[in-house]
Amino acid sequence: MTVHPILEVSDVKKYFVMKNGLKKDVIKAVDRISFSLEAGKTLGIVGESGSGKSTLGRAIVQLLHDIEGEVLLNGKSIIGLKRKELQKLREDIQVVFQDPYASLDPKQKIKKIIAEPLKIHKKPDREKSIHEIIELVGLPVEFLERYPHELSGGQRQRIGIARALALSPSLILFDEAVSALDVSVQAQIINLIKKLQNQLKLTYLFITHDLSVLRQVADEVIVIYRGKLVEKGKVEEIIDQPVHPYTKLLVSAIPEIGKPIVLDEAGEEEKVINQMFEEGEDGCPFYSRCEIRKSICLKKFPEISKLSETHDYYCHGISNKKEI
Ligand code: ADP
Repeated sequence: MTVHPILEVSDVKKYFVMKNGLKKDVIKAVDRISFSLEAGKTLGIVGESGSGKSTLGRAIVQLLHDIEGEVLLNGKSIIGLKRKELQKLREDIQVVFQDPYASLDPKQKIKKIIAEPLKIHKKPDREKSIHEIIELVGLPVEFLERYPHELSGGQRQRIGIARALALSPSLILFDEAVSALDVSVQAQIINLIKKLQNQLKLTYLFITHDLSVLRQVADEVIVIYRGKLVEKGKVEEIIDQPVHPYTKLLVSAIPEIGKPIVLDEAGEEEKVINQMFEEGEDGCPFYSRCEIRKSICLKKFPEISKLSETHDYYCHGISNKKEI
């Protein structure tokens, strides 16, 4: 039986145009990214800070405007929806952010916070649902009477997850959702997220800069660098057999816990990339840091190369499979 993907992302682009005096600077935050995701699976999105992970996530869940390309959810396009359709979509896709405190109203009790999406979407039986949801995320019902400041960081993130579950979505985007937590709490929240996935047949997009988190949660991974997808594969292919020079660098850099990996302080790299953009070239943004670069890398972003059914990369410098 063929399994149809729940999410299909094709050639998605999100550029930010910034005015710089008389000049316009274009930031290609997401540049022609494509992938698909099967129901019940987790796709990890990894890359260092500023690589475009959040922008890609927000573009997919329609929190950003002016997106180019196509995003299909259950086979239906969700790009450029009208208000009513967008509201309906908001039931089906939820987001859990890094800082639950920022997204929880400090003046509201937990029961009101969890009830809010149910109220907005006019769901019946709210009282019953709230009790079920808080138990699903492993908190006692007494917590419904508490305020966010009375909860620990891990408990607040459980509430963030509870709120995301309230409308029984089919897709949840986790945007660095466990990055701010202590390692032991992080492990508990990761276990909860995985348990909920099995129990409720949820599909996840999971943004993280932390490879140890990625290994625990993801089935498949896309690696992005300055808006470009450079490698894609099963989590073990990406972490244990990376082929793209950027992925290799990411995997070899041991991140300090909780800190984004910043491999380059820009400078030289920035200049080369800006020059490429000014000249209208569509080169590889990793050029200036790459040890296997070729002159063509400045002019043309590589086509897809396949190592296996599941493992792809985009690099001119890797000439054939035997060399890897
Ligand atoms: P990541 O999530 O990987 O840290 P982001 O998606 O936040 O990366 O950012 C990717 C690039 O897009 C960065 O260069 C960032 O400065 C730029 N960017 C993100 N949001 C905006 C915005 N609203 N306006 C202008 N530039 C933005």
